[in-house]
Amino acid sequence: MPAASGAPAPGGFTVGEWARDIDAARWQVLHDAIDEHGHWRPGHTTAYADAQAAATAALRTVALHLGVPLAQVGPCGSCAAFCHLYGPSGNPLCPRCLAAARAAAARAAARAAAARAAAARVEAARPEHRRAA
Ligand SMILES: [Zn+2]
Repeated sequence: MPAASGAPAPGGFTVGEWARDIDAARWQVLHDAIDEHGHWRPGHTTAYADAQAAATAALRTVALHLGVPLAQVGPCGSCAAFCHLYGPSGNPLCPRCLAAARAAAARAAARAAAARAAAARVEAARPEHRRAA
């Protein structure tokens, strides 16, 4: 089931990306709630408590969605979407960034193989006495 692996629907958000955005909104609420002297602006304490509760609920949702303990959920090293970061089968990258990194590595390997093949063709085309030792 794609959802359990954390893979997004085509063009859609993953649950980890959704939780990342809720967590980012929490920090924006906190930023707006504290004045230049580091004091709570009147009426903003409740807003931050609400934002914090929403972020915590979102993280719990990610953990349930991935089927891992909450303690194994953390931000992707590339896009900061919450994913299965810690634990034996955790990964520093979310499934989407991992797929992109693997595709980039495959492209680099293909380029390197093509370059080796081209170099071998150049070497084979040289006259015998000019070949590398
Ligand atoms: Zn990512």
